[in-house]
Amino acid sequence: MTRMTSALLVAGLCAALSVPCARAADAGKLQYLFNDSHFHLTNYVQQGTDIHEYLKIMGDKVGRSTLFGIPLQQTWSYGNSGNFAPTYYLQSDAPLYYYSFTDAFIAMAYRSVSPEEQRRLDPMITGFNPADMYAIDHIRRVLQVFPGVFSGIGEFSIHKEFVSSKVAGETASLTNPALGRILDFAAEAGLVVIFHCDIDMPFAKPDQEPVYLRQAIDLFQKHPKTTIIWAHTGLGRVVHPNQSQAFLWRANPTHMQILARMLEHPSLHHVYFDISWDEVAKYATSSPEIEKDTARLLEKYSGRFLFGTDNVAPADQAAQLRVFHLWDRIFSQLTPQASAAIRTGNYERLFDEARVRVRAWEKANPIDGRSAR
Ligand SMILES: [Zn+2]
Repeated sequence: MTRMTSALLVAGLCAALSVPCARAADAGKLQYLFNDSHFHLTNYVQQGTDIHEYLKIMGDKVGRSTLFGIPLQQTWSYGNSGNFAPTYYLQSDAPLYYYSFTDAFIAMAYRSVSPEEQRRLDPMITGFNPADMYAIDHIRRVLQVFPGVFSGIGEFSIHKEFVSSKVAGETASLTNPALGRILDFAAEAGLVVIFHCDIDMPFAKPDQEPVYLRQAIDLFQKHPKTTIIWAHTGLGRVVHPNQSQAFLWRANPTHMQILARMLEHPSLHHVYFDISWDEVAKYATSSPEIEKDTARLLEKYSGRFLFGTDNVAPADQAAQLRVFHLWDRIFSQLTPQASAAIRTGNYERLFDEARVRVRAWEKANPIDGRSAR
């Protein structure tokens, strides 16, 4: 059996199963299931998956992946939990604090793999406090100390359920000029921004406008040159989308209608959304009607959504792919073009451009006059 007939056979099989196939379309070129636009290598206590292990987990299923830690450290306070060592923010009342060393850890992990493997990874800077006017100095310093590594900043959080109120120090806000400086610098250096901000408060009533929506839109409109990916489309575990009587017109638009209006608005074309986190998949697959309407939205604006897992230090490939397969029914309702754009194409477009622009910025801004290596 020739390679062509086997590829056609596999392609036929995948089409019958309406699932994208790793080796389907082009026998020559590996067809990955997705690029992961939202991946945490380490957790809230800076422990995680070894980078070489992660590349094996990516294997022939995940083509490219962002690479970042979590910029917050969960304190293990003996007075609070005794010998119990918390590894997650829900496991202790002790505070969280910003942990900048995560960027050096990610940079060294990236540098420890081969150039071919590096081409599959897009490290992101997260170790800064978005309420600090000096945050951009940290970002600039990381780029200059580790040239040739990073493609963007984030995921960093402004309003995040259960987390923001636990962070020691000033609470981050959408109107803080420190955040404006960060987005301006990202535009200057060409850094892609992955931005976590809940669109609403926890357990919000569906008949009110989401509490952070207007501030977020104002912020985005003030930074038209910054490529911004709004993580999880602004949803959370207890930050629910307004879905009741989905798509029937009500006083307040549903979450999907809010997204559609933002996607339509000419002043927001630099804003993208990632659909990462199994909590988001939970909402999108909560009924056949919502699945159909989610597919319609993704199809119509397929150039503006990126798939991501939001996995944190997965143990194996099954764990890494689980979130992706929660979307199987929705992806099967998309055209191949729209599906490919959301799974891989948009990622490559945004991050390839960032790589070129950030390298150019590093070359033009070497540390202390020494040219970037
Ligand atoms: Zn995340």
